[in-house]
Amino acid sequence: NITCSSIVKSYGDYPVIDGLNLDIPDHEFVVFLGPSGCGKSTMLRMIAGLETVTGGRIEIGGTDVTDLPPGDRGVAMVFQSYALYPHMSVADNITFGLRRQGLPKAEIAPRLTQVADMLGLAPFLDRRPKNLSGGQQQRVAMARAMIKTPKVFLFDEPLSNLDAKLREKLRTEIRKMHLQLKTTTIFVTHDQLEAMTIADRIVLMRDGAIEQMGTPDEIFERPASHFVADFIGTPA
Ligand code: ATP
Ligand code: MG
Repeated sequence: NITCSSIVKSYGDYPVIDGLNLDIPDHEFVVFLGPSGCGKSTMLRMIAGLETVTGGRIEIGGTDVTDLPPGDRGVAMVFQSYALYPHMSVADNITFGLRRQGLPKAEIAPRLTQVADMLGLAPFLDRRPKNLSGGQQQRVAMARAMIKTPKVFLFDEPLSNLDAKLREKLRTEIRKMHLQLKTTTIFVTHDQLEAMTIADRIVLMRDGAIEQMGTPDEIFERPASHFVADFIGTPA
């Protein structure tokens, strides 16, 4: 599991995360939901190791990772803007990390096939990223993260640049992938409908703290405050 204890993050004097405690069981699909600026990305980046904590402690699978670099935490992150290498084929983009680690070709090939099949990318492996649609490019970015078979998957609004239809399709694929791989996943969004459809559990954040945590049903049926009721009840 992922355990965040008394996490504080300040930029200057101003704490954007203020003593946050959170425990995420293995294999769970958790969504960080909340308005713009509430600290979702900051929390995710601290779990990934892309941002230092000002105070507190982060454990992944029983190991204190608070001071470990991102590469040693067993996490993979997918961002809203997927920076693919334009001069490389889709296949080379997906396997870049593994090749850089020096993994032998014979081990890379079957994993590429598996991940490409899972994400429907098999027909595109020889293309350059610029010859793919936005949704296909986002899937390449997902494949690149997945192929490392991380313990933890971190998504920061990976679908928000896509149109509604594609967003729904990829959302279903991400959910399916999770049922298959059971990788502990944190998915950040400010879209309450997206959160309701994809999450096992929602962590609703407000001003750097957790306002409510629960299953989509629990939060929908028993909002803990007016803030939650308003946020869940307002169309995106
Ligand atoms: P959004 O939904 O808009 O992506 P968010 O919930 O992901 O919002 P964060 O990006 O985590 O929000 O930002 C939380 C707060 O921290 C914001 O007030 C933001 O301005 C502030 N912040 C983030 N990064 C920095 C930084 N490098 N320096 C100063 N303040 C920052
Ligand atoms: Mg953000």
